[in-house]
Amino acid sequence: MSKDYKDMWKGLGLNIDAHDGLLSVLTNAYTNIYLSQKERPKGMSYFDFVISEVHGLRIEELLNAKAKGKKIIGTFCIFVPEELILAVDGVCIGLCSGADVGSDSAETHIPRNTCALIKSFIGFKLSGICPYVETADLIVGETTCDGKKKAYEAFDKITGKVYVMEVPNKKSESDMRLWKQEIRQFAEKLQAVASKQITPEKLREAVRVVNEKRAALQRLSRLRGSDPAPISGLDALLINQISFFDDPVRFTAKLNELCDELDQRVKDGRGVAPAGAPRIMIAGSPMAIPNWKLHAVIEAAGAVVVGEESCVGERNYRTLLDDKFDSIDQALEMIAERYLTIDCACFTPNDERLDNIISMAGKLRADGVIHYSLLFCTIYMMESYKVQNSLKEKEIPFLRIETDYSSEDMGQLKTRVEAFLEMIKGA
Ligand code: SF4
Ligand code: SF4
Repeated sequence: MSKDYKDMWKGLGLNIDAHDGLLSVLTNAYTNIYLSQKERPKGMSYFDFVISEVHGLRIEELLNAKAKGKKIIGTFCIFVPEELILAVDGVCIGLCSGADVGSDSAETHIPRNTCALIKSFIGFKLSGICPYVETADLIVGETTCDGKKKAYEAFDKITGKVYVMEVPNKKSESDMRLWKQEIRQFAEKLQAVASKQITPEKLREAVRVVNEKRAALQRLSRLRGSDPAPISGLDALLINQISFFDDPVRFTAKLNELCDELDQRVKDGRGVAPAGAPRIMIAGSPMAIPNWKLHAVIEAAGAVVVGEESCVGERNYRTLLDDKFDSIDQALEMIAERYLTIDCACFTPNDERLDNIISMAGKLRADGVIHYSLLFCTIYMMESYKVQNSLKEKEIPFLRIETDYSSEDMGQLKTRVEAFLEMIKGA
């Protein structure tokens, strides 16, 4: 970290000892998993820097933005439109957490058999180690899975900052009407919180910023389709995780610089994995920072992860938003329509997700798909069986993994992944 931020953390009410402990574990994990990789692109140095300052400089930037009257809006789901947040001069910050922290405290508010992602964001807050939650002016939840929906009640009791958007479970005309109404109400809520009006010009600029970020992430995804892959799955996952909390304009510029470097690598035939290394695509539950567990196991076993069919991945950036609108009303309708194309497993039916997985596997030249669900993430666990069947029809090898944030099952994961890779190599 570039300087001592203890006073800033104290001012946010963090538990300094617990926070020091977290930073030391994270630094060790990052050094072991990330900095030990071979053939890393030079452009990753920016993203290494972001991680080194994730609780330092970035929090200072957010506090400076607040001092200038901007509002910090925390989110947990890609259904919350970043465009609307930017249109009221807000800053959008993803709050999902990916580390096994504070589970015991979290279990005083929610059941033991809740998915690790939910336990983690509650555990981080209760342990006093999340500067993002403390900095947020508004925390936006959504009625996607049952676990989150009920956990937001507890989280609101703890933080007093939660606003919940209702996401329908189907995509019929009446569901669309409900969702459009939710988008309108969210726009009103943001305008009230920020004391700012959304204008067509502001919204058009916000759409441009978010589209450019998504286009850069799409570019990265296309480059990963090259054989050999020019970047590791671990690094690409990290970039996707950072996209949820970095400044969007700076992030896009740095990612495009990195993609220029990757373009050259592709031209030179230079890759991160040895020729013939199995190419694996991940599908399923989101992997919030610092959840690098499965990618680390797969790549340590000699394969390369070439894509994530996940919200921390393709589901987040698959579709851009049209900026040709004449009024705010029309823009809000277009936003609602764009966001209801998201193929989250919380919908029934959700067959477009199966088509998207097959199409992605083809474009990325994946040799196999690993379906990843967090334990107790019922919607993705249930849907994994349909994914398995549709991949079987296309003769694409499939492995189902259910895990959490602990390291207890690392040995078993390693064995299963290695056996899967052997099977692919022998096919
Ligand atoms: S998996 Fe579903 S609920 Fe979770 S972030 Fe993605 S869209 Fe939201
Ligand atoms: S991982 Fe699954 S259970 Fe957990 S919050 Fe996301 S959708 Fe819900």
